Amino acid sequence: MHQFIRPTALTTCQKCGKPVQPHIICKNCGYYKGKEFLNVMAKLSKKEQKLKAKELEKHEDHEGHDHEKAPK
Ligand SMILES: [Zn+2]
Repeated sequence: MHQFIRPTALTTCQKCGKPVQPHIICKNCGYYKGKEFLNVMAKLSKKEQKLKAKELEKHEDHEGHDHEKAPK
């Protein structure tokens, strides 16, 4: 029996929350370390672009709860 060892632990994309390999640009949203490296939108049709934008927006909104601003 062969046992597969997985040396690459997946990390979560900061942008869209999908599991991605570390140090590799996320194929889902094209972001790497919070920066857009790949224009995934360019490959999509307008309809798909809308869906993708919504998907990413949703995630950002969800993440937003962590950033509570302290009143000054
Ligand atoms: Zn992503």
